[in-house]
Amino acid sequence: MKNLRFKVIKYAKMLNSKKLSALRSGNISAKFKDGFLITPSGVKYSLLRSKDIVFVPLKGKFEKKYGIPSSEWRFHRDIYLNKKDANAIVHAHSTFATAVSSHGKKIPAFHYMVAMAGGNDIKCSKYATFGTKELSKNIILALKNRQACLMANHGQVAFGKNLSTAFELAQEVENICNQYIIALKLGQPKILSFKEMKKVLVKAKNYKKG
Ligand code: 13P
Ligand code: ZN
Repeated sequence: MKNLRFKVIKYAKMLNSKKLSALRSGNISAKFKDGFLITPSGVKYSLLRSKDIVFVPLKGKFEKKYGIPSSEWRFHRDIYLNKKDANAIVHAHSTFATAVSSHGKKIPAFHYMVAMAGGNDIKCSKYATFGTKELSKNIILALKNRQACLMANHGQVAFGKNLSTAFELAQEVENICNQYIIALKLGQPKILSFKEMKKVLVKAKNYKKG
């Protein structure tokens, strides 16, 4: 458990250093036994200590004595409950993903790399106030058959089999959003067909080697 706390802190600090989220915005968690370890609410990542990381059970109420978890503990919990392949979650207010999310639209297959999120587009969950049940419900809908989505007027969320894959996917999403914004500056980009994306999705399964 101690090791995993340090890992959560390492990736939380990377939100800052890799420019995925400034100061204390966003949050990170990793599954642990019958719950998960999550960053605390409102603490700058640069100040995090192992004891600040909060354990939240998947079922039942969390105990205040463990600290105050991220205000988004609910959508982290609901992702773990709904996605059996989720062992880690990264939520970021990354610049380009947030900019695209403010339009409340999905990212179509303007580039085949949208397949990295699991399908032929990257959905955007409907807006709801941060930390609410409604936001969690909207995110679960947008994550249907996907491992990442945008969150309207907010940012993005990605999950994976471990912290490294979840973080990488958040970086991929940010990169795709950057490219999409540039592509839109030239007009409406050409969108790849379902047939082509079907081929890509098969190939993408065996793509990552390291
Ligand atoms: P927390 O500091 O409570 O995790 O909030 C940050 C955030 O990104 C809320 O959506
Ligand atoms: Zn947020």
